[in-house]
Amino acid sequence: KQRALQDIRTRQPVTADGVEVELCANIELPEDCALSLENGATGIGLFRSEFLFLREDDLPTEEEQYQAYRAVAEAMRGQPVIIRTLDLGKDKIPKWQEESESPNPALGLTGIRLCMAEPQLFRTQLRALLRASAHGKIKLLLPMLSNLGEVRQTMKHLNEVKAQLREEGIVFDEAIELGGMIEVPAAALAVGHFLDHLDFISIGTNDLIQYSLAVDRNDDAVSHLYDPLHPAVLHLLQHIIATANRKGKPVSMCGEMAGDPQLTRLLLGLGLRRFSMLPIQLLKVKQRLLGADLARQQAIIDRMLEVGDSDELRALLEQLNA
Ligand code: PEP
Ligand code: MG
Repeated sequence: KQRALQDIRTRQPVTADGVEVELCANIELPEDCALSLENGATGIGLFRSEFLFLREDDLPTEEEQYQAYRAVAEAMRGQPVIIRTLDLGKDKIPKWQEESESPNPALGLTGIRLCMAEPQLFRTQLRALLRASAHGKIKLLLPMLSNLGEVRQTMKHLNEVKAQLREEGIVFDEAIELGGMIEVPAAALAVGHFLDHLDFISIGTNDLIQYSLAVDRNDDAVSHLYDPLHPAVLHLLQHIIATANRKGKPVSMCGEMAGDPQLTRLLLGLGLRRFSMLPIQLLKVKQRLLGADLARQQAIIDRMLEVGDSDELRALLEQLNA
């Protein structure tokens, strides 16, 4: 089995009926790039930049951030690297933020909201990211978007920081792409509007499931209710992917669902072509897609979007993976 997986390493990710798929890696540290490349990733689909902000007592400087982002861009040798701007709050709370007492952190100042509230922090990160973009193919990804104002505000900051850098004679990628995480149900339902203002989107299923089902992803008492196959989740995913495909904008998935080989064929059937996952999942997912015949499986997918009964859904999933 190990041998078979190794043979898959160098194969192109194409389904049995010829549909091309992109498999990227999720990383948390620059050092994770080596493992991503070893497992055949064709880029970084999600670099969680939080590690820089969690491990130190102080905020990282622009220079420290620049070095880390540049290291990832260079390690990936020109392959695309999607770096997510700071996504703190909820489960990830740094020392300097501990005293802020949010009555409900998951609904509080998380992700992009914290960056909107702390523009200096955000602009320092944007400067570091832009400077690093001269050394590889970096794209920016905004976490926890819930309204378009956050995209507009970000563009304003980004344009101002770019103008500053130009004035200082510092080079950066003028055409750097800006994408958004779709992980709040409001953003999922209104995804068409977000797509009109962004270059690409990435689906964060971990949070999308948590917020859709009102189930804390880290609370053991309700973990049995956390269900990626809930009909509401499937419909949201179908809507997000179909809308992006119709508008001709790239859509990828970087939540844990993307790295679950049991779900690979389902996601392909919903129209997903770009997956990003932990490096160790890449070969297992590739193995599952190499054997997939999308045309033949479409009837099962259509049926899965109709049924409400979870036992029936699981039976259909088994058929899909047979
Ligand atoms: C997600 O929510 O699916 C996601 C990828 O982001 P994180 O797990 O870092 O919240
Ligand atoms: Mg998330």
